[in-house]
Amino acid sequence: MPRPNAASRRLGSLPAKVALAVLLAITLRGLLVGGASVSFARDFFQQIVELTFPAQIERTARRVDAWLAAGHGHVKLLADDPRVLRGSDAARQELEVQLTESGILDALWIVKRDGSVQLIAGEPPPANLPASLSEPGIHALPRDAAPPLPVASARAGRSGWLVGRYSSHGLESLLTGDSLPGVGRGYLLDAQGHVLFGGVRDLDRAPLPLDALLAGEELEAVSYQTDTGAARIGAARPLDQLSWHVAIVAHLDEGFDPIEPLLLQLLLLDVALILVMVWITYRVTAGLVRPVVSLAEGARRIAQGDLDVDVQEPRTDDEIGTLTRTFNAMALKLREDQAEIDAAHRQLREQNQALQAANEVLAQLSITDGLTKLHNHRFFQDHLTRELKRANRSGEPLSLLLIDIDDFKALNDQHGHAAGDAVLERIAQVMNSAIRESDLLARYGGEEFVVLAATDLEGAVNLAEKLRMQIGHTAIPIDDDVVVFVTVSVGVSRYKGDRKAFFRDADRALYAAKAAGKNCVVVEAEPF
Ligand code: GH3
Ligand code: MG
Ligand code: MG
Repeated sequence: MPRPNAASRRLGSLPAKVALAVLLAITLRGLLVGGASVSFARDFFQQIVELTFPAQIERTARRVDAWLAAGHGHVKLLADDPRVLRGSDAARQELEVQLTESGILDALWIVKRDGSVQLIAGEPPPANLPASLSEPGIHALPRDAAPPLPVASARAGRSGWLVGRYSSHGLESLLTGDSLPGVGRGYLLDAQGHVLFGGVRDLDRAPLPLDALLAGEELEAVSYQTDTGAARIGAARPLDQLSWHVAIVAHLDEGFDPIEPLLLQLLLLDVALILVMVWITYRVTAGLVRPVVSLAEGARRIAQGDLDVDVQEPRTDDEIGTLTRTFNAMALKLREDQAEIDAAHRQLREQNQALQAANEVLAQLSITDGLTKLHNHRFFQDHLTRELKRANRSGEPLSLLLIDIDDFKALNDQHGHAAGDAVLERIAQVMNSAIRESDLLARYGGEEFVVLAATDLEGAVNLAEKLRMQIGHTAIPIDDDVVVFVTVSVGVSRYKGDRKAFFRDADRALYAAKAAGKNCVVVEAEPF
């Protein structure tokens, strides 16, 4: 498995996970509350529209009706005024004064029977004035006129009509005056639902669904969708003055327009709050986790055998603080126990060494003669067994010397046992320094010694003579001013393949030496 790098380790850390959980929780909550708020606000907005629009459309329609009637009445009055019909400059000036005073109309035209325009006050008429204007009443300018405003006409004299165009400004304030601020749009619709004049903002150029808007019992707001799927709610009412309608339509989606900046601010505030919360959560959790990381590192070191661990204790007196203190106490106890174990190990090692040394001494003692420090009888027998095997294999010569102190009993009797011991010691030293490394000298028992020499009979005899001579010439002090000399008799034999015969021969030779007067060397009698 590839080792995770530092960045992904940090992302997978506990603080990151907690911060992520908080981020998700807050974001989810924000989305839910936001969604619920929007849905609630939409319903609320719809209810307000449904409650207010019927009364509002009623009011607006009445005003528009009254306004149109007033405009028409004004045109009729002017059409009866003979001064106006003169078509002179003075007449135009009079009409312009009337326009300014009425506020309902913004243009007045005198149109002749042949369709030509005789007089213009205010803005000029569109090129294609409809023939229907010859009928007194309220009409609409053709829909391609910009804007297709309503006009009122009245017969003026015998040869023409006075046509007054309603002020777009006045109509506009009538259509928008009552709607909710920034929400509803007032429309003036013809019989087919075509928009003749729109209220504030851009027009819905497509015909409004008049049938749907008028479908309700009495006056009520109706919800519908445009061809592009936008949600609308509106109400319509026919005008009394002409076969037109007044409608007020609200864009459901625009219900939020007034509070959009506020919503945006709230959203930004929310995002900032979320970031701050996530950051605080991360820091707090990281602070909480830090001692745990130290503890884990400490535990890892202890697991690797490093007991010299002291985790820094947090300042807080909470569970983690308790855990850290307990951990440090545990590490201290482990160190103390380890020190005790080490000391016990050291002691055990020392005792082992002492035991080993004692064993070695013991082993040495078990094969050593206590008085002379020579090998004892047991060691000699073991050694002899090995040497005989070797001689059997190799055929090399092996000789045995049995050495017995002459008249030792008498020496003991005369000078005491301690003097006898001193003699034994001294003779052992003399013989030990006289033999070769390869020879084995041992105390055979009592005042008898034995030498196993890797030599033939001649060499053995020479060695026996040498020993006898050196011992005989050694002055042995046994007291402050007493010195004794002792002699030895030596029996010599040669190994011929039989262990018992080897000894028997040497023994016999020694016996022969004693019989011959002691202080001499006798060789085994060779059988012929
Ligand atoms: P021989 O010339 O025939 O060998 O006469 P001997 O007196 O030496 O022989 P014997 O066997 O009669 O006496 C040996 C004596 O050696 C008897 C014993 O008291 C003495 N002896 C044996 N071992 C020790 C010892 O370790 N210390 C002392 N002081 N005397 C010992
Ligand atoms: Mg003896
Ligand atoms: Mg003796």
